[in-house]
Amino acid sequence: MRRRFLQLALLLIATATGGAAGLPADNAGPALTLYRQLRDLGLDPARVYRIRDVGLDHAAIHITLNSGTIAFSHSVEGRVTGAFFEGDGEILLVPPNQVERGSMALFSGAPILEERFSTAFFRFNDDTFERLQPALRPADETAEFLARWEPTFRELCVTDALALLRFLTWQGPSGASPGTFGHARLAGQRLGPFDVWFDTENAEQVLVGQNNEVNGAQIFDVWASFAARNPGVVQSGEPENVTELGRNSLRITAEKIRTHIVPSHEMEAEAQLTLQATRSGARMQVFELSRYLKVSSVMGDTPLEFIQNESLAGGDLARRGNDLVAVILPRPLRAGEQLELRFKYTGSVLSDAGSGLMYVGARGIWYPNLGPAMSDFDLEFRYPAGWTLVATGRRVSEETVAGEAISRWVSERPIPLAGFNLGKYRTTRARAGETVVEIFAARGVEKSFPEAAAKPIDIPPLTPLAPNMMAPPPLALAPESQAVAQRSAHALDFFSRHFGPFPYSTLEVTQMPGPVSQGWPGLVFLSSYAFLNAAERERLHLSKYENLLFGDLVQAHETAHQWWGDAVLWKSYRDIWLAEALANYSALLALETEKPDAFRAALEQYRRDLARRWHDGPPMKDAGPVTLGHRLTSSRLPEAYEVVVYGRGTWLMHMLREMFRDADRDAPDPDARFYQVLSDLRERFDGRSLSTEDFQKALEDALPASLSFEGKKSLAWFFDGWVNGTALPRFQLSGVRFTRKNGKTVVTGTLLQKDASNTLVTSVPLYATIHGSKPEYLGRVFADGPETEFYLAVPAAARGLVIDPYQTVLTRP
Ligand SMILES: [Zn+2]
Repeated sequence: MRRRFLQLALLLIATATGGAAGLPADNAGPALTLYRQLRDLGLDPARVYRIRDVGLDHAAIHITLNSGTIAFSHSVEGRVTGAFFEGDGEILLVPPNQVERGSMALFSGAPILEERFSTAFFRFNDDTFERLQPALRPADETAEFLARWEPTFRELCVTDALALLRFLTWQGPSGASPGTFGHARLAGQRLGPFDVWFDTENAEQVLVGQNNEVNGAQIFDVWASFAARNPGVVQSGEPENVTELGRNSLRITAEKIRTHIVPSHEMEAEAQLTLQATRSGARMQVFELSRYLKVSSVMGDTPLEFIQNESLAGGDLARRGNDLVAVILPRPLRAGEQLELRFKYTGSVLSDAGSGLMYVGARGIWYPNLGPAMSDFDLEFRYPAGWTLVATGRRVSEETVAGEAISRWVSERPIPLAGFNLGKYRTTRARAGETVVEIFAARGVEKSFPEAAAKPIDIPPLTPLAPNMMAPPPLALAPESQAVAQRSAHALDFFSRHFGPFPYSTLEVTQMPGPVSQGWPGLVFLSSYAFLNAAERERLHLSKYENLLFGDLVQAHETAHQWWGDAVLWKSYRDIWLAEALANYSALLALETEKPDAFRAALEQYRRDLARRWHDGPPMKDAGPVTLGHRLTSSRLPEAYEVVVYGRGTWLMHMLREMFRDADRDAPDPDARFYQVLSDLRERFDGRSLSTEDFQKALEDALPASLSFEGKKSLAWFFDGWVNGTALPRFQLSGVRFTRKNGKTVVTGTLLQKDASNTLVTSVPLYATIHGSKPEYLGRVFADGPETEFYLAVPAAARGLVIDPYQTVLTRP
């Protein structure tokens, strides 16, 4: 899986030009009317003032308006929600930890944001206007001010309309406050325009960043994002129900979707969602749904108001898509209450790739959802007879009625996502124990199959695919279905043995046009490239690593997502690296015994990628730690996500496994402890979300005594320095001396750790070189900072010392 591009909370905020559907325009309900007022807002000529020495603080955000002119917006339902300032102001924002200060430094040149600005746009849901009254004096030349800034203000107001609507429709018990929302767009003197948000509906309430452009594409760079210390969040009673859509008020427990696929690519669908309210007070819930699908109605007990957005001019959000629909409930929810919603929608989300291959462009957002979360799915599809449909769940019926095929698929257990694919497939089967692996391959590769390889891509579910992920001229190739079936069965068998049983009765593998692959619950979408044989791949002039990737790794990787990513979910964007690194390292483990050279080649490739520079910019590793997730894709290092999450992530798993292995070198199976940790995790977190902290704790619980650092059964040193860091150090030895005393030989010396921070701690294995035989393991030394002295017993035959000859520690190439 590749990135979850979407900083969805942000997307929600910046959502919404035009396109407000819902009830017909002349019959807009109260929520839709309110939404439009919030969106189409102007400055009030009667509210233009001089202002001096005023501080606007929210948690870690300190904004000062030194002197200038400020105009406030018209009121909406008696509230003033916007302002525009011109003059001299400054912002001070101190990120709370090393990771966020590092990110801030990458983008702004300093770990702390301290910047003067000349204009500021503000949006808020609180009493800012009332609070500022004492500091306001009548202004002159109000007409010029308004003429200059009114258009900008109006344009920016679109950005926060939906987020504000969520707060303003809130009807908490006994007037409870819904929390706080604030947005500032500041024109920085040094840094240009940038945005700061404070939003108690987000898990990380403080967000600061900037829109930038790379090769014509917009990227929103997140400079820093973190949880405020005292955010004043309304307690939901269910703190876990915060997804990338923000703090959800509802949870989907079951979803029934009836889909009619009309030739050639149209889809008409009705989705019936069973939901449970997770807190009281909310009247609005935002769902994800592809913008290519138009909602015609949302029904509760009665027709409901909804807001669906089509497009957004400019910005990261336009590129990433604005795939949201907000539903307004007739009354505030009570925590625990059940409700049903029925969405009707139509649109074109299927593309014909040729050779009998269809392609669902919208992936996981072809039905309304609240992000990956476990629920039961009951899917029914109607489609032209002669085509084959494959979906998540178990097929419980299939019939042909009046020239149309109808098939129904029911999930065998709650699954995080539902998906399908459609094609004129040939089916091949293989077995892995009790599990059937079914391959659904087309008669050829797609008509757009390229002569030269496109970049291999692996994307997480719910990410819509861009049209450019498919490309030009045909090769007359026949998919290698049998080989794919065998390789998938081998991987499935390996993972079942090490991580616990495969959760479904069958694994369906369906051919996917282009270089994209995805692993869904019981359903793998596998790139056409993986269906080529070795000779065919050769004609495409793939690199050694791409050959390995499409020849072996990608199938095993997507199959491993059945365990890591589907059965066990990730908790937040900061934990998605776990799903990718575990899936990728599991895939390498399945390959290791058979192809040790390929295993090494992959790790070597990842190491080189991390050191590679992006044009004249910094090396990829500097994009940040794996825990930044999608934020690693930035205008500074647009390709860093894969390199860090996959490359570094895989190395982190390798380092952990090798540390555990060395501790148990004399055990019958030195890998048993590491595998045990993984299979325990899989069992404990089955159907739940795993965080980086959970992962650390599980490893620490199983930590061998020899890996205690400073006497503590803790891996804090590894997670602080390596997981939440960007280290790519080098190691050297100095002052090595062998001494013989009382019939024993010892070696002393200093281990140098270079190109790393002074606080980095690394467990480094040292070996003795012995004439005529392989290096002999002596032990591990904790390199603690730049220089560490060591003392080790060595065999009498030792001639020298060598650092980590089998490359178990990630180092600079
Ligand atoms: Zn993946």
